[in-house]
Amino acid sequence: MTADIIDGKAFAAGLRGMVAEQTARLKDRHSLMPGLTVVIVGNDPASQIYVRNKGKVADELGFRSDTIRLSEDTTQDQLLGIIRGLNDDPAVHGILVQLPVPAQIDEGAIILAIDPDKDVDGLHPINAGRLSSGQSALVPCTPLGCSMLLGDRFGEGGMKGKRAVMVGRSNLVGKPMAQLLLAEHCTVTVAHSRTQDLPALCREADILIAAIGRAEILGTDCIKPGAVVIDVGMNRLELPDGKTRLCGDVDFDGAKEIASAITPVPGGVGPMTIACLMVNTVTAACWGGGVDLAHISA
Ligand code: NAP
Repeated sequence: MTADIIDGKAFAAGLRGMVAEQTARLKDRHSLMPGLTVVIVGNDPASQIYVRNKGKVADELGFRSDTIRLSEDTTQDQLLGIIRGLNDDPAVHGILVQLPVPAQIDEGAIILAIDPDKDVDGLHPINAGRLSSGQSALVPCTPLGCSMLLGDRFGEGGMKGKRAVMVGRSNLVGKPMAQLLLAEHCTVTVAHSRTQDLPALCREADILIAAIGRAEILGTDCIKPGAVVIDVGMNRLELPDGKTRLCGDVDFDGAKEIASAITPVPGGVGPMTIACLMVNTVTAACWGGGVDLAHISA
């Protein structure tokens, strides 16, 4: 079997198009402009690139977008003061503090300080609780993107009763993804670094999701024939010539001969993450402006 390659880049482009249309309707029908503010502390080069990309996409979709750049030595109190100001600003619907923050700042305190209704990263415990109890929530962008790719693959109700294995249990990916799979009536197992006989467990999965951060750690012995594989991992693999190559947590070349569908790295889950940040910002704008999302969806 040669798997279908799930084209996250194309899907994300379609999603951004839909968000642009919703944004135009929000402006036309409700005089509301989604506002996204990204806060970055320090000079981490990778974070600078992510933040620039987020601002660029927000601009393209017609949002009011702002980036607040703070120096590496910013104190926790200074950052908390800025977040309080953003929480109180009605023009700001989405607040994202780029992680990681420098060591003098407690990441947990920052997440807790963000108004849950503006928490477009979906990391606030209130949003985690809403998600796990089946309420409307702002869902972390990467698992939201994965669930959209799966929804497209399986169709309405198509995941019901499937065996899903989520490898990784971070608050950012693994735990919220497990909740999303449960909500689709999958039978979900969450695996992690202490799981015994991971390959045998993974081979039970009709849906296998990897968010581990270890280059190609899941080999062909982890794939059930016909499985749908979603690879969240983003790793740099050292090549014999000293160069590096971007790869996922799954041995893509091997897995694609066994699975029925698989996301590539790059070009699979990655592009969905920023697109879903924009989805969350429109959701937050609707909440903030008292607009029913359904009214701007068509
Ligand atoms: P994380 O917080 O480091 O969590 C990694 C998880 O993998 C942990 O639950 C850990 O288990 C588990 N793990 C580590 N080694 C393992 C092993 N040998 N066998 C089984 N499980 C193992 O990472 P994350 O933030 O979830 O991110 C995971 C990966 O996804 C990274 O490569 C990251 O770059 C990527 N990512 C990509 C996107 C995107 O947009 N494409 C977004 C977010 C993350 P323990 O809990 O037991 O330690």
